[in-house]
Amino acid sequence: MSEITEQQVMESLKAVIEPGSETDIVSRKMVSGLVIKDGNVGFVIEVDPRDGAKMAPLREHAEKIVHALPGVVSVTAVLTAHSAAAHNTASGGQNAPPAPPGAPPGAPQNAPPGAAQPGPGAQQAGAPDAKPMVPGIDAIVAVASGKGGVGKSTVTVNLALGLATLGLKVGILDADIYGPSQPRMLGIGGRPNSPDGKTLTPLENYGIKCMSMGFLVPEDSPMIWRGPMVSSALQQMLRDVSWGELDMLMVDMPPGTGDAQLTMSQQVPLAGAVIVSTPQDIALLDARKGLNMFRKVDVPVLGIIENMSFFVCPNCGHESHIFSHGGARLEAEKLGIEFLGEVPLDIEIRETSDSGRPIVVSRPDSPHAKTFVAIAERIRDKVKAQGATRRQAPKIVMQ
Ligand code: ADP
Repeated sequence: MSEITEQQVMESLKAVIEPGSETDIVSRKMVSGLVIKDGNVGFVIEVDPRDGAKMAPLREHAEKIVHALPGVVSVTAVLTAHSAAAHNTASGGQNAPPAPPGAPPGAPQNAPPGAAQPGPGAQQAGAPDAKPMVPGIDAIVAVASGKGGVGKSTVTVNLALGLATLGLKVGILDADIYGPSQPRMLGIGGRPNSPDGKTLTPLENYGIKCMSMGFLVPEDSPMIWRGPMVSSALQQMLRDVSWGELDMLMVDMPPGTGDAQLTMSQQVPLAGAVIVSTPQDIALLDARKGLNMFRKVDVPVLGIIENMSFFVCPNCGHESHIFSHGGARLEAEKLGIEFLGEVPLDIEIRETSDSGRPIVVSRPDSPHAKTFVAIAERIRDKVKAQGATRRQAPKIVMQ
């Protein structure tokens, strides 16, 4: 069967009427970021933020209509809150989403080539505060890495469990939309429920609440998330989820320090960020890039964790330093960031996290679990101290 076309999708969406204006969402230029790949369709519906909650049924309706088209395998529509001013005055071009870095060449492009993400300092036009706090969540901490495969998700889940061991109420937002692995690492699956039709209930295991793109998007559907879809999906995972009261929400960021990550860091009210790196990547200055990225958006970097730092022979206990060990500590010193600790390359760390029983819960007495808990403790203390500093900081410093 031939691939469904962009025109067919847009044509079908003309049947979706925006409540209030009584005009269809295509004529209202509310649809953008259309991506079609192997029958999987994704698009953005831009709405006025004041109507956000009211628009949930509109999104569902749009998904249903597109799903009914022949050859459509899955549909993901995400709502993006646009300021009223931008929405009302938008010409076609203004509503077009920016092209993400590395957008697949075959993907339909509504955006002009080379369109850029908003700059680091850019705030959403008309938005009173681009980073409103999330009610009920005390602190949000990002876990980031310069590239994939360094163990960022493994570290995130074990730190979250470490924080829970210390008595904190913890959640994980798996924002690694390119390869969400928290459902697997926490051993949870299925789809989150939405009892009220507006907010999603996070899934939970080992006392950790988790929301992940992996719950919402079928594993076999391609993850072609264009810039604005990433942002709005993140906003929905952050704000349309009933997290309840949390002391700390850990955000498992997508790997890398490009525009998508920068936009994310800009949109989430982060208390701080932790950078995970392997010893050999330190040499590639990934940590430095991460640091600069968070500095741009005024997010304090709480420290660096060196993962797969050294190898302990399971037979004789000998420590092998496969990669140049200690690079992260040195680099951290040079950069003036705290070195939070080192985690060895260990088969048990891999097996436990990959099978949904991370080492902090499955072998809490092991030295590796203790390492994670010690790092978690340090993160908790730093975030707490920072909050205190912020609260105590005098508003007027001139004398
Ligand atoms: P990322 O989130 O950075 O892409 P993951 O956390 O998914 O990386 O880890 C990649 C792989 O490496 C996984 O199979 C994971 O279990 C393994 N891994 C991560 N940290 C360690 C470690 N310290 N020792 C052994 N294996 C590890």
